[in-house]
Amino acid sequence: MINEKGNISIQTENIFPIIKKWLYSEKDIFLRELVSNASDAISKLKKLSDIGEAKLPDDYKPRITVSLNKEKGTIAITDNGIGMTDEEVKKYINQIAFSGAKDFIEKYKDKTDDQQIIGHFGLGFYSAFMVSTKVRIDTLSYQEGQSAVAWESEGDTEYTMEGSDKKDFGTTITLFMADDSKEFLDSWKLREILRKYFAFLQYEIYLIDENEKKEEKQEDKKEDQKEKEEKPLNNTSPLWLKNPRECTDEEYKSFYHEVFTDFNDPLFWIHINMDYPFNMKGIIYFPKLKHEFETMEGKIKLFYNQVFVADNIKEVIPEFLMLLKGCLDCPDLPLNVSRSFLQNEGYVDRISSHITKKVADKLQLLFKKDRESYEKYWEDINPFVKYGCIREPKFFEKVKSILIYKTINDKFVTQEEYLEQNKEADKKIYYVNDEKQQAQYIRMFKDNNMDAVILNTMIDSHFISFMEAENRDVKFMRVDADIIDNMKDDESKGDENKNLQEKLEKIIKEATGKDKLKIKVEGLKSESTPAVILLSEESRRFKEMSRSFGGSINTADLFPDEETLVLNSNNTMVKRIADLYEEDNRKEDALTAACHIYDLALLNHRQLEPDAMVKFIERSNSLLMRLL
Ligand code: ADP
Repeated sequence: MINEKGNISIQTENIFPIIKKWLYSEKDIFLRELVSNASDAISKLKKLSDIGEAKLPDDYKPRITVSLNKEKGTIAITDNGIGMTDEEVKKYINQIAFSGAKDFIEKYKDKTDDQQIIGHFGLGFYSAFMVSTKVRIDTLSYQEGQSAVAWESEGDTEYTMEGSDKKDFGTTITLFMADDSKEFLDSWKLREILRKYFAFLQYEIYLIDENEKKEEKQEDKKEDQKEKEEKPLNNTSPLWLKNPRECTDEEYKSFYHEVFTDFNDPLFWIHINMDYPFNMKGIIYFPKLKHEFETMEGKIKLFYNQVFVADNIKEVIPEFLMLLKGCLDCPDLPLNVSRSFLQNEGYVDRISSHITKKVADKLQLLFKKDRESYEKYWEDINPFVKYGCIREPKFFEKVKSILIYKTINDKFVTQEEYLEQNKEADKKIYYVNDEKQQAQYIRMFKDNNMDAVILNTMIDSHFISFMEAENRDVKFMRVDADIIDNMKDDESKGDENKNLQEKLEKIIKEATGKDKLKIKVEGLKSESTPAVILLSEESRRFKEMSRSFGGSINTADLFPDEETLVLNSNNTMVKRIADLYEEDNRKEDALTAACHIYDLALLNHRQLEPDAMVKFIERSNSLLMRLL
């Protein structure tokens, strides 16, 4: 039997305080590292058995148990994996693990900002000392004829080795928890950490509270020793590993509900299942967005061989996809043992572009094969797609032909379709960004069999600028920016209108007191519309921009004369005003009507200034009085 005391060959005596300090902010990774080691030990044993090097009992079932003993102040992690011989303990624990720690300190003692590096240096096992005053290993190798070994160290460079009474092959790591880490002696807390990292570990994990077990046993005796059924806390075969062809919609949905605790169904999803040129599996969901602000709350969980690494790792997941939700398992990730340290950028880039491509392919497929669904989803996915176009040129290239717009006629059209169906628009895409405010213009468009697209989400103003920059031929115009030629009647009434224009300009200016107001008389096909206000696209965008920079600056005052009042010479009221003005004793009535027509046109365009609003209401009331 061995009975050995030794000194770990490390010069730096103060290695543990340094590691401790380093890792302080992410203390729970000791569990991630130790359970991952346990899982690796089982995988190694299974591999040996597969190639005939190890003989496993017929009823062998891989299992990892985390036992909590509050009374003793210990947490123990037990696996039935490969185990270690005494030589292996010396080699793997005393030499490799410690030299990893030494390398780590030498390379990183001056850097204090990256906690993610730990496992990369084979520090996995040593993370146990972050939380323990003493660590004990009891291990029995799977190899026949070996005896069990116990190894202990108190976190300095000394260790002891002796025989252990462990009966089954595998390893138990017992942590004697330090005072400043007592918070882990809590089964809720342990369960939470284990669920975070190992909800999908390939081997079953059980959490056992030994103190509770004792109590239960006593109670059980009374209750006819009813055995409580044990349940692993993980799901060993997550849906992403299943063949996509065998997965049902229901399975995809319930997996989504389970992982993201979101009661809404996702819209659709992409199952990534690739082996070549690298291995990557996962499911990416397009969530239903309740409101736009929520779009930023997506979550892509990255896994390494079914062990959780982190959420939303920006190196792997293209930023615009952060709006989505999903799980991605990349067993080829260059993480080494630390399951959270990325090094090979080339590889990471390839993952990222593969995902981008997959997402674009899925959208194209939907567009081509099931345009109806594509249109149905569009309202939920459009902020994400637009954001993706702006952020990721490769994505834009792939989806630019399938970008669609909802229109005021409740249709969905691509840019090409819009221009084709609205030739009169002359390569301009007319849009509405507030259906209520712009209702009057919408009616004019509809009256003239013209369509306009609806662009009313937060990202749309950026998207419009982006699309114009990408495609110099096309310009976006809000419906109140211009009157399209085909909305005017083509009879040439040049002189007649000129005459009317002069009269009306005088009347309106007199009525409103606005000397600088631009006034134009046009024969509009919508006879029932007396007047509309136009504001050129450029001035409006300029106003909006200065508003977004200047905050409280009242641009309506700064650019008062940018708006043009277009009076419709085909409208009876408009014509009547001009005549009335010249009739005896009717001048005042003409002025009142002119004012009202101007205000109504303004109201259809924007809110009135407070003074104007008060006057408008007073005038409306007195007009009503006359009626009654
Ligand atoms: P790494 O996992 O990076 O090799 P660790 O410090 O976590 O570094 O572990 C060092 C070595 O100790 C492992 O490579 C493995 O050979 C051995 N080891 C650790 N935990 C176990 C275990 N539960 N069962 C068998 N061997 C283990």
